[in-house]
Amino acid sequence: MNKNDDILVSVEHLKKYFHVKGMKGPGVQAVEDISIFIRRGETLGLVGESGCGKTTLGRTILQLHEPTSGKIIYDGEVIFDGENPWKPGADGTMTEVKVSKPKQVNMLPYRRKMQIIFQDPSASLDPRMTVGEIIGEALDIHKLYNSKADRADRIKELLSTVGLNTEHANRYPHEFSGGQQQRVGIARALAVNPEFIVCDEPISALDVSIQSQVVNMLEDMQHELGLTYLFIAHDLSVVRHISNRIGVMYLGTMVELAESYELNRNPMHPYTQTLLSAVPVPDPQLSRSRQRIILEGDIPSPMNPPTGCRFHTRCPHATEKCRMEVPEFKEYAPEHWAACHML
Ligand code: SF4
Repeated sequence: MNKNDDILVSVEHLKKYFHVKGMKGPGVQAVEDISIFIRRGETLGLVGESGCGKTTLGRTILQLHEPTSGKIIYDGEVIFDGENPWKPGADGTMTEVKVSKPKQVNMLPYRRKMQIIFQDPSASLDPRMTVGEIIGEALDIHKLYNSKADRADRIKELLSTVGLNTEHANRYPHEFSGGQQQRVGIARALAVNPEFIVCDEPISALDVSIQSQVVNMLEDMQHELGLTYLFIAHDLSVVRHISNRIGVMYLGTMVELAESYELNRNPMHPYTQTLLSAVPVPDPQLSRSRQRIILEGDIPSPMNPPTGCRFHTRCPHATEKCRMEVPEFKEYAPEHWAACHML
């Protein structure tokens, strides 16, 4: 990929497999050979059906899951570099071979710079801690204050940044609505002055009425604080509103990536075309004239993904080549990548 601009985060050939007890082979192949970059100050949206690996990709970049192999580079520093221990044997089955230990750095300084906002705010906040304690915990781990008064002031400042009252610091998570709980989750992520935030479906557990408030707040904070986001969602209509560029994932692979407007105007990959056909349009006439593409069959298991193009079992254009060969993720137009033999 061409990377002429100011890249904050990039991954190269990243894979994440989850071992399954009692099962031979690599297990769940949740992230398969993904190479992307995120520019400083931009929002990269990530979409795909549930189970496609987008959350795993976000968490693997943060090394909340240890990568199986590939490279992760943060602000020019390689923070993970590991060789893939799984090689296809002569009969095509994957065999584990001995590889050298991956290069890994101490993540504590990077934990400050790279944060996450979780999908379900009620599950991600400890019910036994007050909001002040939850936000203060991150300040304590990274020793980000000089005195107790500084700590209390910083907690108040963070609460008001996310639109909560300063006296909310003494309350417990269950005393808040879902939208307010997510604001606490955002304040916790902001506490350490991060540069990069993985927003892992931050609004999907919220009422529709407050989703836009949270999205607007995230956008405002990005402009004020110069944040870089990886914004994960299953709803393309949300992602295209907030993202500069959008990546589309299918069964652990990145199938298309382009600037947001370009992806909406000129989707190249058959899977992206399917996703876009399902996005409602406000114009009733246009809506009637548009044909919704319905995919046949269920999404296959990442424990036993299809050979060749992973989408071939559901793609209306699949050929023998698609069943045999993995399509290369290539730049077909400036800043527009896709993985499809048909292109
Ligand atoms: Fe469909 Fe083949 Fe393209 Fe995969 S490579 S999306 S199966 S046409």
